[in-house]
Amino acid sequence: MPYKLTLVLTPKQAADVKYYTEQAARRAGVAEQDVALVRVVGRSIDARQRQPKVNLTLEVYADCEPQPAPVHFDYPSVAGRTEVVIVGSGPAGLFTALRLIERGYRPVILERGRDVSARKRDIARINRNGAVDPDSNYAFGEGGAGTFSDGKLFTRSKKRGDYNKALQTLVFHGATPEILYESHPHIGTDKLPRVISNIRRTILEAGGSFVFDARVTDVELHDDRVKGVWVGDTLYEGAAVVLATGHSARDIYELLHRRGVRLEAKPFA
Ligand SMILES: Cc1cc2nc3c(=O)[nH]c(=O)nc-3n(C[C@H](O)[C@H](O)[C@H](O)COP(=O)(O)OP(=O)(O)OC[C@H]3O[C@@H](n4cnc5c(N)ncnc54)[C@H](O)[C@@H]3O)c2cc1C
Repeated sequence: MPYKLTLVLTPKQAADVKYYTEQAARRAGVAEQDVALVRVVGRSIDARQRQPKVNLTLEVYADCEPQPAPVHFDYPSVAGRTEVVIVGSGPAGLFTALRLIERGYRPVILERGRDVSARKRDIARINRNGAVDPDSNYAFGEGGAGTFSDGKLFTRSKKRGDYNKALQTLVFHGATPEILYESHPHIGTDKLPRVISNIRRTILEAGGSFVFDARVTDVELHDDRVKGVWVGDTLYEGAAVVLATGHSARDIYELLHRRGVRLEAKPFA
């Protein structure tokens, strides 16, 4: 087992690996040359004092093998497997697709907007001359609503699934490993679009598919069950349909209401 301890340091000391390694070895009662690895597993900043302090939680590995930090995910091939249609490629749609692949289903993602690179250009046009494409903008397009934010990951809810797996999935797709232990992790505006396109690559390599510029305009109902969705005059059918359209897609709520689909308010935690 590693020794686990917390050091209270100045920001300069907390950024100095050699310094905190020496301090951690001393606190753990281990000679420095016997330390195999000191890993940061928690970091929070206490800015209440004039001189801010950093609480650095460390694991010191001396008499045991360090466990690997980031996890490697193997996504099986789902080519030719049962299809599930996902509407929307925001966080909910993308993580649904990854989960379906783990369970052996082939996700088909329909997205009204464009892929994240083309979307960047549409957003630049909004900022330059106020021209808004109704399907590719700050709310709509690959990656969903927060793609051009700094990607704050502050929730610590433990009741609704494996939060750590979500973080590991983001690291596997290019987020920095610091998000695994920062007390206020964020992915960073500059990195978020790349993480999104890496997730797309994983889904495509596993055999899933994406259709961009594909705004769902109707649902196909049989015997009170949703069998598929319409994009213009093309019907996409699947064993299930997941609507992951976010809360900006008012037209989807209106559509469901019009078609008599019962909507239920989400109980907030
Ligand atoms: C500017 C901004 C900054 C934010 N920053 C953060 C943050 O830092 N941290 C954080 O946790 N949250 C942040 N959020 C909130 C976060 O983005 C949302 O909670 C999250 O995106 C919701 O994910 P979602 O997949 O449910 O929906 P969305 O992200 O809204 O994704 C829905 C997707 O469905 C697509 N879609 C909608 N209608 C259709 C249709 N008819 N046919 C096909 N596709 C459709 C949309 O184009 C979109 O890609 C931010 C939001 C905004 C707007």
